Amino acid sequence: MSQEIERESMEVDVLFVGAGPATLASALRLMQGVEEHNARVEASGGVPIEPPTVLVIEKGAEVGDHMLSGAVMNPKAIRELVPDHEQKGFPIEHKVTKSILRFFLTEKLSVAAPGFATPPQFYKNGYYVSSLNRIAKWLGEQCEAAGVEIYPGFAGDKLLYQGKRVVGVRTGDMGIDRDGNPKPTFQPGMDIFAKVTVLGEGVRGTLSKQLIHDFQLQGMNPQVYETGVKEIWKIDPKKHKPGRVIHGMGWPNYFKPVSGMFMYDLGDDLVSVGYVPMLDAESPFNDPHLALQKFKTHAFMKDLLEGAELVKYGAKTLPVGGLYSQPKLYVDGALLVGDSAGFCNAEYLSGIHMAMKSGMLAADTIVEALAQQDFTTKTLGGYTERYRKSWAYDEHWNVRNFHGSWELGMLFFFLNQPIRMATGGRGLIDPIKFGPGHEHMKKLAQLPEGERKKEEFEFDGKLTFSKEHLVQFSGSAHEPDQPSHLVVADTNLCKTQCAEEYGNPCESFCPAAVYEMVDDTEKPGERKLVIHHENCVHCKTCDIADPYQVITWTPPEGGEGPSYDRM
Ligand code: SF4
Repeated sequence: MSQEIERESMEVDVLFVGAGPATLASALRLMQGVEEHNARVEASGGVPIEPPTVLVIEKGAEVGDHMLSGAVMNPKAIRELVPDHEQKGFPIEHKVTKSILRFFLTEKLSVAAPGFATPPQFYKNGYYVSSLNRIAKWLGEQCEAAGVEIYPGFAGDKLLYQGKRVVGVRTGDMGIDRDGNPKPTFQPGMDIFAKVTVLGEGVRGTLSKQLIHDFQLQGMNPQVYETGVKEIWKIDPKKHKPGRVIHGMGWPNYFKPVSGMFMYDLGDDLVSVGYVPMLDAESPFNDPHLALQKFKTHAFMKDLLEGAELVKYGAKTLPVGGLYSQPKLYVDGALLVGDSAGFCNAEYLSGIHMAMKSGMLAADTIVEALAQQDFTTKTLGGYTERYRKSWAYDEHWNVRNFHGSWELGMLFFFLNQPIRMATGGRGLIDPIKFGPGHEHMKKLAQLPEGERKKEEFEFDGKLTFSKEHLVQFSGSAHEPDQPSHLVVADTNLCKTQCAEEYGNPCESFCPAAVYEMVDDTEKPGERKLVIHHENCVHCKTCDIADPYQVITWTPPEGGEGPSYDRM
C-alpha cells in the first residue's frame, strides 16, 4: 500500500533522526559551526555558508519522552558545547561528592570499598547527577533558539536511497488498523529529503540497523548489549543524601550474566535505582526486571526503600561492545552518532558524554560538507578522522578489550584487568574477538537439571512488583488498533521449536510483559504467542536477545511509547 499512495515531501539541508543527546548536541554544534565559519570567511574573504535548514524528527510525543539513563554524567562534552551551560540552566540535580563502590556478597551482606580504594571506573566526584529526559529537553530548547526545527511525534520508518546514496527518510504512516487497512484517520508518512541524514535513534535503531546491514558497516566484532531496568522512588527525607552515587556488583546475579547496579539521589527526596545485566546469558530465563526486583530485597536496599513510594519505571538497552564493535560511521549522505554507533564507555559506566561528542564531531564534518557542497564519503569521511583525534576515541581505545575480557571468563577478566590498565587497554590479548550475545544462550537440554525452569518469585506489591504492574509507571501508551510494531517472523516457531528448545525466553527477557504464551482456545492442546504491544517500553531487548533472531522491533505510530519524565 505504502508504495502507491501519494505522499507529501519536504527538503532540508540536514536531517537528524531521533532527539537524544547525540543528535541534539550535533544540531546545536552545527549551528555554532556555521556561525564560526561565516565569521572566519567574513574576515578572510571566503564564501559564507547559507543558513542551513536543519530538522530533527523524534518518535516520542515530546522531546525527552523516550530518554532514560543512569544519568551520572561526565561533564566533558557539555563544557565544550556550551561553556556557560550552568548559567543557562542546564538541568543539574546535584554534583557528585561521594562515589561508592559496594559489593553485594549475599542476600543480607554487603560491604563498601574504602573511599581511597575506589577504582577510577567508579570514581564519579564532580560528575552531574541529572535526568536524561531533562537534558534532552534543555538541549532541544537550545537547538530551537539557534534556529533548528524539531518535529516530535514523527518516527523514521525507511531510509530513502538514490543509488548507493542516502537521500533522506520516510516517516511512518499513521492511522492503520490491526489488519493493515487504512482507518478514517489515515495519514501517509512524509518523504524528507536531506543533503545529510544523521541517524541517532538510540540503541538498535531501525534505520541504523538498515544502514549497517545495507552498506555492511559492521565493525570487527558485532555489537553486544546490556539491558538496564530502572526505577525512581521517593524515599524518607532522612535517608536522602544528595551527592551520593553507589555502583555495585554481586547478589543476586553475581556474574551469571555479568551485571551491575547503580543508585543515586536526585532532587525532591527521589532516588534512582537500576540493575543492568548483560544480554549474553547462558540461561534463557535471563530476566533483567526480575533481577532488579530481587536486588531490591537485599537488606541494604530494603532499608533504603522502607516506606518509600514508587514513582517511575523503565528499561533501556546499552551498547557495550566498545571500539571493536563500532560500525563504520559514514556513507554517502549519512552519518551514525550516539548509541546507534556504539558510542559508550562501558567500563567507566558513561555514555552520554560520548554520545554528545560523537554528535559534535559529526556536526563539524557537516559544516565542512556544507562549505564544500560535497556530501559524499570524500567529505563525510572526515568524521572518522575527527573521531580518531578526539578524547572520545582515546577513551574507547583505553577500554577496547573490556567486554572481550569478560567473554574469556571471569578468571581471565580479573587476571587481565591490571594488565589492561597498565598497558593502555591492551591487556594480554588484543584484539579480543567475540560473537553476538544471543549465541551464548543455551538450550534447556544443555543446562543442569535444576536450571531448566524459570524460578518462582512472589512479588509483594510493596517493594517488588510484576512487569504488568510496573508498565503503568513507564507512562507507555500505544493505540491497540494498529499492526503490532513487534514483528515475529514465524510465530509457529514459538509454540514448537522455541518452547521445546529454550522455554520461550521472550517471556523472561522482555521487561514489560509484551510476550505471553497462552493456551490456544481454537486448537486444544496447543499454545500460541500473544503480543501485548501496548505495553512496550521501546527498550529493544527482544530484537537483540531472541535466540532465533526472528523478532524485529519497528517504530509504532509516531508519538507513542513511554513517557520518561525525570528518568
Ligand atoms: Fe523491550 Fe521488546 Fe519488550 Fe518492547 S517488546 S519492552 S522492545 S523487550
